[in-house]
Amino acid sequence: MDDTEKKQPKTEPGAPDSAEALQDQLRDLLKQANMAFASEPPHAPHPPPGTPPAAAEDDETRKTLDKIRAFHSTPREVREHLDRFVIGQGEAKKVLSVAVCDHFNHVRQCLDDPAVLDSDYIKQNVILLGPTGVGKTYLMRCLSRLIGVPFVKADATKFSETGYVGCDAEDVVRDLVKAANGNTDLARYGIVYIDEIDKIASQTTAGTRDVSGRGVQINLLKLMEDTDVNLFSQSDLIGQMQAMMEMQKGRPPGKRTLNTRHILFIVSGAFDSLPDIIRRRVGNTAIGFNAHKGEHAEADFLRLVQTPDFIAYGFEPEFIGRLPVRVVCDPLNVDDLEAILTTSEGSILKQYKSDFRGYGIEFSLSREAIREIAERATAEKTGARGLMTILERLFREFKYELPSTSIVSFEVTTDTLANPRQALNRLLKQGYSLHMENLKAELDRFSEGFAQEHGLTLVFDSEAVSAMLDVSIGTGKSIPELCSEKFADIQHGLKLIARNTNQTSFIITRAVVETPDKELSRWIVESYPRHA
Ligand code: ADP
Repeated sequence: MDDTEKKQPKTEPGAPDSAEALQDQLRDLLKQANMAFASEPPHAPHPPPGTPPAAAEDDETRKTLDKIRAFHSTPREVREHLDRFVIGQGEAKKVLSVAVCDHFNHVRQCLDDPAVLDSDYIKQNVILLGPTGVGKTYLMRCLSRLIGVPFVKADATKFSETGYVGCDAEDVVRDLVKAANGNTDLARYGIVYIDEIDKIASQTTAGTRDVSGRGVQINLLKLMEDTDVNLFSQSDLIGQMQAMMEMQKGRPPGKRTLNTRHILFIVSGAFDSLPDIIRRRVGNTAIGFNAHKGEHAEADFLRLVQTPDFIAYGFEPEFIGRLPVRVVCDPLNVDDLEAILTTSEGSILKQYKSDFRGYGIEFSLSREAIREIAERATAEKTGARGLMTILERLFREFKYELPSTSIVSFEVTTDTLANPRQALNRLLKQGYSLHMENLKAELDRFSEGFAQEHGLTLVFDSEAVSAMLDVSIGTGKSIPELCSEKFADIQHGLKLIARNTNQTSFIITRAVVETPDKELSRWIVESYPRHA
């Protein structure tokens, strides 16, 4: 048998010999399965009112259904929940609270009386506009924790028209089914949140319209409207295999499609150049004499948005028409960022506190320090994300160094912000009392080894010990490393001195630590008898 023969993987007769062949075979199997499914009635008749869905037998589904039925919060209560986490964005909170409560009421009516499913219900899909980092996604995350219906978040930039590159817009619906533990009866009432929706606007470049953005819009438009999504994606080989296996075991196949008519869509995006389009249409004076400047002026213009502005931005009229509820999220100012740090239940500062607490370290910030962090974050112009940037920069070294010290608490002041490294070094010195003992013990060990090897005693005075500590902190080098660096070959000089003076014990001072060669030379010179 030659080498090439040996390296050939063994192929079972009839087994596919490449990934493509495996895919082809699976597609054939799927076709057969689809034919089998096709013999089923396309829509099962609605169960009588009040009958729980057939698939709702598992505990998880029953709990979710109970939660939906028990949801009787008012928009005001939902907003109060959001207020605990999200600072500002009053208008967006109101709109989303109303949208979610309306959706719940509709879902409840559908569950109680499936005839409602076929009634003309006009969905209040929402579009959130606003700069990056102001809480659009966060609002949705806070809502999703509160709501009982299945919820998925997707990023519009991942969609491609064909689904060959990236994913297919329909994948969000399949994800919704996954989020509903495979229960299509629940998934059809879910909420889909799609961020970065502005990135699928078709761009006009050199007189031509980019068609891929338009294609994705059309795919999404169908979903927002009313369409049956095939739950077995062509690209989802695992899903296809599972379906095949179920069929081969003789189990009835699950539902093949999901209708999107009752799914609520909420989309969001920064829409950077949209304010300019609106400004061109309405003129600069439209927002009045007391108009804000900069980002706030942009938010003011966004509030005047109309469908033609979205079309000029690159959206299809039909697409934007499916998003009747439009709301603007405001940029965050210094006060907002300060409030996020101090009052939001999901504040990033809380996270830092809990991270440090994990190492038994508590820290506090002075009011002035909090204000300064908020000011620095505003200058980043990335909304609340600026806070993350500033805090990460501030605490990076603290997080690395402090857990290995005996520090149990510290305060961040404006001095800390002015020079974090210096503040950390001060802390490290304080907190290194334990390290000091370890250091002393390490130096003692070095001296013992030195005495055993060379018959000479080295005694580090307290100044030398703290000098060694300074160098160790400053350079990050360990004590044994520093000793072998500083006192390499010192024994030759000391033995000479011992021969001249019989001295066998030597006091190591700060000067010796700082300039060992110079001090040793001086000692040697002084050890020679002076001739008058
Ligand atoms: P975007 O508007 O770009 O979707 P995000 O919602 O993702 O921004 O914001 C990033 C993070 O900043 C959030 O996870 C949250 O911690 C914080 N954040 C943003 N805006 C607010 C806000 N208004 N109130 C409280 N925290 C916020």
